[in-house]
Amino acid sequence: MFEEGAWSDAAEGGAPAAPRPADRPPPPPAATPRQLRDTLRRLQAAARAAAGGGGGGPGGETRASSAVQGGSGAAEEKPEQPLSRKQWRNRQKNKRRQKNKFRAGGGPEAAQPHSGGPVAASLLPDQPPDSRASSLRLRMEERLDSARFRYINQQLYTRPSQEAARLFQEDPEAFAVYHRGFAQQVARWPENPVQRFVRYLRSRPASWVVADFGCGDCTLARSLRNKVHCLDVVALDPRVTVCDMAKVPLEAESVDVVVFCLALMGTNLREILEEANRVLRVGGTLLVAEVASRFADLRGFLGALAVLGFQLVSKDVSGSHFYTLELRKEGPPRAGGAGTAKTPAGLALRPCLYKRR
Ligand code: SAH
Repeated sequence: MFEEGAWSDAAEGGAPAAPRPADRPPPPPAATPRQLRDTLRRLQAAARAAAGGGGGGPGGETRASSAVQGGSGAAEEKPEQPLSRKQWRNRQKNKRRQKNKFRAGGGPEAAQPHSGGPVAASLLPDQPPDSRASSLRLRMEERLDSARFRYINQQLYTRPSQEAARLFQEDPEAFAVYHRGFAQQVARWPENPVQRFVRYLRSRPASWVVADFGCGDCTLARSLRNKVHCLDVVALDPRVTVCDMAKVPLEAESVDVVVFCLALMGTNLREILEEANRVLRVGGTLLVAEVASRFADLRGFLGALAVLGFQLVSKDVSGSHFYTLELRKEGPPRAGGAGTAKTPAGLALRPCLYKRR
């Protein structure tokens, strides 16, 4: 493009343009088109230098230089004819009109009257380059988060519960990633199971003491008048008591309800459920919500829970995403349960591995 270099120097040069003869008011009409073009270009360069403090961001420069190359430059490549005084005046008037039109339109250029003028504004891409870069970065970060969530989730479901604490202590950010991913997953479901438990508990005595094993963001505690012990490996909320759910700092038979809402994650299920049995009073309620596909053998699982001291009261296995179980503590675990190394047959849940999003 002709005289591209002249613009580029001004646009990219860091130093503000020093006053030059051409920065004076426009030349008299007798000036040749070439002189006019030069003047216009210098004025634009000076305006840009003034607006951007002598440089501006890389995005701004790209916009401005492409505007000149593809805009006014192209328009002025026509054969050059000397302008009459009238023609020159008309041209100036049109330019002013154009400029006002864009200012009134109120785009980003309107807020920066010196940022390259109307031509630059008309040729702006929809999104400035730095904004496109940040949305790309956002997408990359989302993908990375999603992959990390799936990895952490898999670790939690395929290792004993004690390792969950270690995992999150070694990488505190992992907990935030996990919870963001978890919240995104559950938000896609027709219903969040924790809300079902909120409704259930609201219809029971508010005097019941609840232990929320793997409480996450403490939705239960926030939604109920009951005393709720919030137990989790990391504190998302000041209400949380940080602990491993296989060993919680609660007195034996001190609570009326134990809740595992999507929290039966560790492979040491026997230990975890024995701990629930220990803190729950006889006659107390055990509430479990789990992803439906985790139950390979529901009957076997319920049989194992019976060995661990819990009798089924009701179940809802009609949902496509999760099942809920309501059980009653009959007494301590029977033979094959607490104190023995043997895990009751049927006490198994498939790991819940989320698909790639
Ligand atoms: N019950 C909450 C959160 C479910 S996500 C809800 O429904 O919204 C599962 C929770 O279990 C996570 O907060 C996770 O940190 C917690 N968790 C996983 N392993 C744990 C362990 N060993 N001890 C205590 N909490 C654990």
